[in-house]
Amino acid sequence: MEDIIRQGLAALGVPADGAQIGAMARYGALLLKANETTNLTAITEPAAAARLHFLDSAALMTVADFAGKKVIDVGSGAGFPGVPLRILTPDMDLTCLDSVGKKMDFVREACAELGLADVECLWGRAEELPQLREKFDLAVSRAVSEMVMLSELCLPLVKVGGLFLAMKGPDCDEEVQKADFAVKALGGRVREICRYDVPGADAVHAVVVVEKVKPTPAQYPRRWAQIRKKPLLG
Ligand code: SAM
Repeated sequence: MEDIIRQGLAALGVPADGAQIGAMARYGALLLKANETTNLTAITEPAAAARLHFLDSAALMTVADFAGKKVIDVGSGAGFPGVPLRILTPDMDLTCLDSVGKKMDFVREACAELGLADVECLWGRAEELPQLREKFDLAVSRAVSEMVMLSELCLPLVKVGGLFLAMKGPDCDEEVQKADFAVKALGGRVREICRYDVPGADAVHAVVVVEKVKPTPAQYPRRWAQIRKKPLLG
């Protein structure tokens, strides 16, 4: 895993030292070991995990600066993209959030083994955390929900002036367009869609960059049943 991560980070132009590359490979090994008994990831092959978990997560660093920022990873699962970003950015303050407790247990324990005990792991639903409202410089999220609903989960957590970065497949234009009303209603503005090659994976992925330009109105987020039943389509 280490060689693939080292070469891939170089291809992305993301700087990393040996300790950081080693920490990512160690986290990957802990994940694949834990995955033998707990269902944490569908990717079970080390080379694929290196590319599709670690390099894909690290690619966000080509889109935004995480240094010194307070970041939440919404629907973090086994810690992606949050944990690789934190390994590569030691002064970033990371909260991982997931609605499945066993996933957050894994992230907490694996981070502790890597000496990343300051990573906060929260078991809960993004739309049920009023205490975290507008507390983050950046919200990141991968593979959680369609953009229109994801915006309602993530944008309320971001401070005005901050960013919401949604990791998507390359053909996301229609999905992003469909979310236009929701993004605006929630206080956001789509700045751009950045596409990148995942090194060695023969895959192009995308990041939707959304700026938080004004506070989210108090009626959002709604309960999940409402978000799903009546997505903000205008
Ligand atoms: N982001 C990780 C990744 O890319 O490997 C995990 C993706 S997984 C497909 C989606 C995750 O989102 C699941 O772990 C699920 O529990 C979580 N999730 C879905 N809705 C959520 C919500 N409303 N609040 C918090 N977590 C949520």
